[in-house]
Amino acid sequence: MSRHAADPVVVRAPYQKFDVIVRRSEIDGHGVFAAEMIPPRLKIGEIRGEAITCAEGRRRAASLQRIMIVEVSPRTAIDASKSTDPMRFTNHSCQANARLAIIAGRIEFYSLRGIEPGEEITVNYGETHHEGKLRCRCGAPNCVGAL
Ligand SMILES: [Zn+2]
Repeated sequence: MSRHAADPVVVRAPYQKFDVIVRRSEIDGHGVFAAEMIPPRLKIGEIRGEAITCAEGRRRAASLQRIMIVEVSPRTAIDASKSTDPMRFTNHSCQANARLAIIAGRIEFYSLRGIEPGEEITVNYGETHHEGKLRCRCGAPNCVGAL
């Protein structure tokens, strides 16, 4: 992949399989955008974080606004709030082009279809701690309207 000198330098961790860029999103805050073509059904990357108990995860989720905690087993959760992995900025969409998968205690992202360079990568969060109190701005025709 050729780059111009002015392009941002992307440092890719070994578990990040495709180049992505984090920038402002129309959906919410920052989002993750494909920097190259991502074919369907492939691993895009992972989020690493601090392993904690699910009880501690729920305690932290109750006290903080911007938080990313994923329960990876009945006992263990990953707090990725301080993670520097780009995939932690993945926004929700009701018509997502990727999915989140918990595999062997890891938080992994897989493409559901081909994702074009410049397209925002989104997943369907499903049940979140917001319990339907956060308005969804994904803009999909089938948007359920709340998270
Ligand atoms: Zn929506």
